[in-house]
Amino acid sequence: MKSKISRSKIELFIECQRCFWLEAKYDIKRPEIISGGYIGQNYDPILKRAFDEHRKNSTKPKEIEEKGLDLFPDLEKIKIWRSKGVEFYHHEHKLTYYGKIDDLLITKEKLLVPFDFKTTLSKNFQIYESHKQQLEIYGYLLQKQNEPVSNLGALYVIKIEITENFEKLEERDLLIIENLDYEKYDEILENLKEVYYSEKEPEPNPDCPFCNYFEKRKHIVKT
Ligand code: SF4
Repeated sequence: MKSKISRSKIELFIECQRCFWLEAKYDIKRPEIISGGYIGQNYDPILKRAFDEHRKNSTKPKEIEEKGLDLFPDLEKIKIWRSKGVEFYHHEHKLTYYGKIDDLLITKEKLLVPFDFKTTLSKNFQIYESHKQQLEIYGYLLQKQNEPVSNLGALYVIKIEITENFEKLEERDLLIIENLDYEKYDEILENLKEVYYSEKEPEPNPDCPFCNYFEKRKHIVKT
């Protein structure tokens, strides 16, 4: 049984306890919905290099300047938090919780601002609860490292548009998310730990199409 729980597993637990239980304990993953591919995979490394270059030159992207924020200056810490993740070993749970960040900002008061890169082909990028949750988990883990964390979070959004002439246009924006709530995660992780160590399979999420599909198939009576 694995003893490390990633940020995405915590989000999976919030979405469906059964899916979390199957994946975290038994490595049984929900089928993936086929999509057009995740373009962030291509852009994230480029953005990380560009942000690190700004750090080395003591400059910052103009979208960050305009919002009155700074890049978190400690590149060594950033490298560790990107590769190993921001880790928190919970002694009572005997579990390590971790989240790999893209990058990090700070306020003028030197409070850390949980931050993530998002690349989209949509002209109208929307902030969903899942974006807030992702930043909250980063902030929660950073607080557990005794880092001073702001309740502001930020998304660096790259909107890509392919024109009729096959030209690629890029638009960049820094979106601020206010009122991140870190306190609730103590209780969420308490519940997660109970489910993780339980031998009983949790109930499925009634809104999810996958388990419903298998449930319906089970009830087919062959004639
Ligand atoms: S209901 Fe959906 S999310 Fe939950 S276990 Fe089934 S497939 Fe996974």
